[in-house]
Amino acid sequence: MPKKITLLGSTGSIGTQSLDVIRAQGYEVFGLSAHSRTDLLLRQIETFHPKVVCVTDLDAAGRLEGALAGRAGAPVLLHGAEGLRQLAAMDGPDVVLNSVVGIAGLGASLAAIESGHDLALANKESLVTGGHLVTQAVARHGVKLLPVDSEHSAIFQCLQDAHSARSLTKILLTASGGPFFGMKADQLRGKTKEDALRHPNWNMGAKITIDSATLMNKGLELIEAVWLFGLPPEKIQIVVQRQSIIHSAVQFSDNSVIAQLGVPDMRIPIQYALTWPERGGPVAPELDFAALKVLTFDVADEETFRCLAACKKAIAKGGLGPCAANGANEEAVKLFLEDKIGFLDIGRLVEAVVDSDAFGGSYDLADVYQCDRMARAFVHSHL
Ligand code: NDP
Ligand code: MG
Repeated sequence: MPKKITLLGSTGSIGTQSLDVIRAQGYEVFGLSAHSRTDLLLRQIETFHPKVVCVTDLDAAGRLEGALAGRAGAPVLLHGAEGLRQLAAMDGPDVVLNSVVGIAGLGASLAAIESGHDLALANKESLVTGGHLVTQAVARHGVKLLPVDSEHSAIFQCLQDAHSARSLTKILLTASGGPFFGMKADQLRGKTKEDALRHPNWNMGAKITIDSATLMNKGLELIEAVWLFGLPPEKIQIVVQRQSIIHSAVQFSDNSVIAQLGVPDMRIPIQYALTWPERGGPVAPELDFAALKVLTFDVADEETFRCLAACKKAIAKGGLGPCAANGANEEAVKLFLEDKIGFLDIGRLVEAVVDSDAFGGSYDLADVYQCDRMARAFVHSHL
């Protein structure tokens, strides 16, 4: 029986690459979701014949409803954030892959887990904003949390036998350094969104591409790694690996290091999350060691790239600190993409919100959303 997948955020960079993998594996699609790109979603419906789709933007949902009217075999159409949670919770798929961008993915991650589904997670913001809630729900419902993020997939791949997991002492989380690697604040001040959207190695959605330029992405990933692998933040070292060939590494009690390598192509980690514990066929080109002349290593510059420093402070504070950092960043990136703030303002605002409160302590889902709203309001009052 082919596996059945519900894919949330199917129109995005991870979403479309996930559909490549699903096609290559001969899997079936149970559900799809998009926010507003209904033209692409409609083509995906025609190709993959999902049983259920959700469009979270209400105007766009109306457009898709019109386009599907009277079509034989049209999928059930859900809408809004509640529709996304309903889709994530529905019986039918063997695994839910969440590739929504931002905290908008948190509710669906929790709904999938609480309904007993294994969750392949690209939406790192679920773990950053609600790591405690997500990991507790995973333990309570006995489901699998399968990392899609390339670094976390690499770490996961290096820890496949139980002995390795027990002897883990350190994670080496690699970073490309982004398009502005080596630059100082003076050179960064005038950078535009066009400059920041030009990533050297990866072709990704706009938000994560900006996060890669500010190194916020690496800060979010450090927090993601703390929740996924249970090491404290000081045991996770960020290593700049400019070629994005070493996707991350782990170190054991005897100081032996094991790394995972491959071409920078997200279809490899996406496929591993879907085929785990098996491996699928060659979904991306092989790494050409004859052409690969150098692998370089550098230290990340937290003095200049304040988002990374802010994320470290946020996870050290604990509680809702990471959620506040994430909310401020989502809002600041939106303003930067609208040309309303400068590049360096992103780091300034994220750090300021983290410095504004103690944040520690336990929280529930309502607290997460309230903290997210606070952080976004904080950004607007500190422009
Ligand atoms: P994209 O912006 O390309 O895609 C985002 C997807 O989420 C789209 O389907 C979009 O719909 C949908 N979406 C947007 N806003 C909402 C909302 N408010 N509610 C529900 N759905 C929404 O992002 P990426 O694919 O680049 O990234 C997705 C996630 O994966 C992020 O968390 C990112 O950090 C993570 N990730 C991405 C990598 C990459 O290579 N791209 C690598 C590792 C992790 P629509 O198209 O209609 O707007
Ligand atoms: Mg990554």
